[in-house]
Amino acid sequence: MMPVFYDTHAHLGYPDFEQELPAVIERAKAAGISRIISIGTDEASSRKALKIAEEYPNVFAVVGWHPSDAPEAPEDIRPMLRELAAHPKVVALGETGLDYYRLPSKSNPAAAAKDEGYKAKQLSLFQQHLEVAAERGLNCVIHQRECFEETLQALTPFADKVRGVFHCFANDANAMRRVLALGSLVSFTGILTFKNGQNIRDTLAQTPMDGFMLETDSPFLAPLPYRGKRCEPAYVKEISETAAQVKACSLAELSQATCHTAEKFFRGLGDALRGPEPSHRPKA
Ligand SMILES: [Zn+2]
Ligand SMILES: [Zn+2]
Repeated sequence: MMPVFYDTHAHLGYPDFEQELPAVIERAKAAGISRIISIGTDEASSRKALKIAEEYPNVFAVVGWHPSDAPEAPEDIRPMLRELAAHPKVVALGETGLDYYRLPSKSNPAAAAKDEGYKAKQLSLFQQHLEVAAERGLNCVIHQRECFEETLQALTPFADKVRGVFHCFANDANAMRRVLALGSLVSFTGILTFKNGQNIRDTLAQTPMDGFMLETDSPFLAPLPYRGKRCEPAYVKEISETAAQVKACSLAELSQATCHTAEKFFRGLGDALRGPEPSHRPKA
């Protein structure tokens, strides 16, 4: 039997997939990618992720506001998060977190005075995701770039109530251990397959089997041999093959570990696997 994997982070709502979403989801299924989690990055894309999840039984949604889009967000997004979180196909909140890669001062040194406001807005939105997640018993998909310490610091006060997955993880093994120590997880993309991805393979090699998940971050970051092209969920297959080599385990073992981790992390993902049901099967 073909080992099954999940794509725990894809942006199926992006225009890149507009013309051929049914084919993209079909190709994923054919490659053994049985579940796809589609991630929102603002209100419109979160609603779109939900719409796709309503349409396709094997697609689930994560709703939230990406830190890079923070300047366009309302000051208080908690009402929106609470409304969307009530939907049965919402499995987590996000993607949220902190991203200092595009600080205003980086494109224009004269705009340095704007950096503090930009950072404060990101932090406020991140805290709102964590607050609503704690309140609703959900976990958070966390995006972090160039501010690992700040992100960990913001998560820490919530760590007894909310787990995070540090998606597209690109930090070293020491950083990975600090994430896991908070009860959170890491997840790995196609960068794992890149020639210059040895540092990421080293981190994965040291990550315990129950400490990570796999994702594409489609339409970005296509693994080898598709690097540079549009990425799609079917390519979790290539990512899983590299991950199994790095972990020196079989694809079946990797499948069991990563799917089990995802089912525990994402609300309702495990239940959904048992449905839609042949009616004679007992309800768990
Ligand atoms: Zn991200
Ligand atoms: Zn993403």
